[in-house]
Amino acid sequence: ASTRDLLLSRIRDVADYPKPGVMFKDITPLLADPVAFTALTDALAELCVKHGATKIVGLEARGFILAAPVAVRAGLGFVPVRKAGKLPGATLSQAYELEYGTAEIEIHAEDLSPDDRIMVIDDVLATGGTAGASLELIRRAGARVAGVAVLMELGFLAGRGRLEEHLQGAPLEAL
Ligand code: IMP
Repeated sequence: ASTRDLLLSRIRDVADYPKPGVMFKDITPLLADPVAFTALTDALAELCVKHGATKIVGLEARGFILAAPVAVRAGLGFVPVRKAGKLPGATLSQAYELEYGTAEIEIHAEDLSPDDRIMVIDDVLATGGTAGASLELIRRAGARVAGVAVLMELGFLAGRGRLEEHLQGAPLEAL
């Protein structure tokens, strides 16, 4: 079977989580399966190499679980994008719209250099708000964008379209 089929078979649909009417895509069965987790790590690392990434940015929290082994596999450094107030050093902050209200994420800008091409990794692209804000952080930190790679894109939420202005021609890859 294809990698896509293997990965899909290890994603669990959880109804009415975190609130009624939402079908949550739970990746913990995939993480618990070493064959599937390795296949995912390898596939994401391949995309990083293909698009010429020099560094990986992972998005808190589930993005960390994927981005760290991908960085090691690809021989690249890892830089976390965290929710506001979690990073100890000098940070850049970016606010973005949620369904209800706003959120804010931060990065240690000194961990990116102008020579870097950054691949952003997360588990799920939903509305695209988080990924879009992370791309703004990367550009404001002075680095270039190699692309965004996710395990899963929830197509019905149209995140790809919303991300377009932030991608500025860089690729969005969804396994
Ligand atoms: P967005 O900003 O709306 O694209 O939401 C993306 C963020 O929400 C990602 O960091 C995901 O981890 C998380 N997320 C949204 N929906 C799901 C889901 O169904 N399963 C797992 N994570 C999700």
